[in-house]
Amino acid sequence: MNLHTPYPYWLLKNGFLCEYPALRHPLQVDYLVMGGGITGALAAWYLAQAGISVALVDRRHIGMGSTCASTALLQYEIDVPMYQLAKTVGEKNAARSYRLCIEAIDKLEQICEKMPLPTGFERKPSVYCASRKADLEELDLEFAMRKKHGIWVERWDKADVARAFPHFQSPGALFSPHDGAQVDAYSLTHALLQDALKLGAQVFDKTEITDIQHEKTQVVLRTNHGQSIRAKQLVIASGYESQKYLKQPVTRLHSTYVLVSEPIDGGEIWFRDALIWETARPYLYLRTTPDHRVLVGGRDEPFYSPEKRDKLLAKKTQLLAKDVEKRFPMLAPLPVDFNWAGTFAETADGLPFIGSVRERPRTLFALGFGGNGIVFSQIAGEIIRDLALGKKNPDTHIFSFNRAKAIST
Ligand SMILES: Cc1cc2nc3c(=O)[nH]c(=O)nc-3n(C[C@H](O)[C@H](O)[C@H](O)COP(=O)(O)OP(=O)(O)OC[C@H]3O[C@@H](n4cnc5c(N)ncnc54)[C@H](O)[C@@H]3O)c2cc1C
Repeated sequence: MNLHTPYPYWLLKNGFLCEYPALRHPLQVDYLVMGGGITGALAAWYLAQAGISVALVDRRHIGMGSTCASTALLQYEIDVPMYQLAKTVGEKNAARSYRLCIEAIDKLEQICEKMPLPTGFERKPSVYCASRKADLEELDLEFAMRKKHGIWVERWDKADVARAFPHFQSPGALFSPHDGAQVDAYSLTHALLQDALKLGAQVFDKTEITDIQHEKTQVVLRTNHGQSIRAKQLVIASGYESQKYLKQPVTRLHSTYVLVSEPIDGGEIWFRDALIWETARPYLYLRTTPDHRVLVGGRDEPFYSPEKRDKLLAKKTQLLAKDVEKRFPMLAPLPVDFNWAGTFAETADGLPFIGSVRERPRTLFALGFGGNGIVFSQIAGEIIRDLALGKKNPDTHIFSFNRAKAIST
């Protein structure tokens, strides 16, 4: 599948950060990670950190799947509000999911501090705006639920929003002063893999897995170059292309559109350069970049084909620019520097799928779907490491495939 238009900002900004060979020889390894985006990179990094023999392969160049197209807001707030999620998965699991996302951002910060390459990680507050008056009731329910579970969040009224964002037409918002961040997911992926290489991991790109046989004691894979890989365990981290390895449908695909402006002169572009999103579905999502650009995404559509998705790019870019100008008239006319379209997958409950399915023995899936894919990838990396070490992870049930039927997409 073509996952995005050719020129996401991060790819142009960073170029080919590091090179990796294609696999040209037979390989035997304890863990084989299939997919070299942020999810596979975190899984391989955690496994290598734990001293486990691991190799990672990707059919593209590393990071050139969805990861290089990501806008990379790191939010503990998942696409489904906690009070709604509680109705589907129970309040305990909903609260735990949010808590795990907060912790995952903290852990990503610690990881980024140690990385051998810049990762663009920056702490940012997050503002969740009510798009219309009618959404205030839900905003209050959400505020109460988050407070009940110890999350540090403020309820802003119309005047509070206007103080921070004078031109917003928002009647209220939830402000999370401490628990958001942003990153360069493409660069972080390379950084993780460079670190994993130092720890003994092997990384191959331009290497497609074309066949998978699950045997009693191993998984035997074949590549497009005719090589075989024997692994005791397989980790499938192949992003939005993973559905074909599953019997049960677990995702819905959408197209989303992104623009990045030219650098804006001055200091902060808006209030604390916060991450901004809203209650409307689909929602608009905004952040800034370390080189002072505005990055805005949204105007999502159901996904039919890459051609249909890409045809809309010019029109969607104009609409996104207008969306920014309406909220920030001082930025008009917004000088657009880059734009792209990407496909993304979401699940019915907004949570990722991490774990195994009966039809694929010796295999773990790490599918960080949804608007919080990167945060979910961090959670997946730790779960996979724990399972590899035979350590009980108390949270596996929250993300397991067992819930797939119940929440059916
Ligand atoms: C436009 C856009 C905006 C987004 N914004 C955000 C955001 O703000 N915050 C956030 O957290 N998330 C966001 N996401 C989601 C996030 O980017 C994804 O969850 C994340 O990048 C997925 O990473 P991944 O490693 O699972 O998948 P990918 O990056 O797609 O990596 C999977 C890799 O598997 C490889 N692969 C597939 N099949 C095979 C095979 N048979 N053999 C070998 N390799 C194979 C592919 O080539 C690919 O490189 C956004 C996504 C998009 C598209």
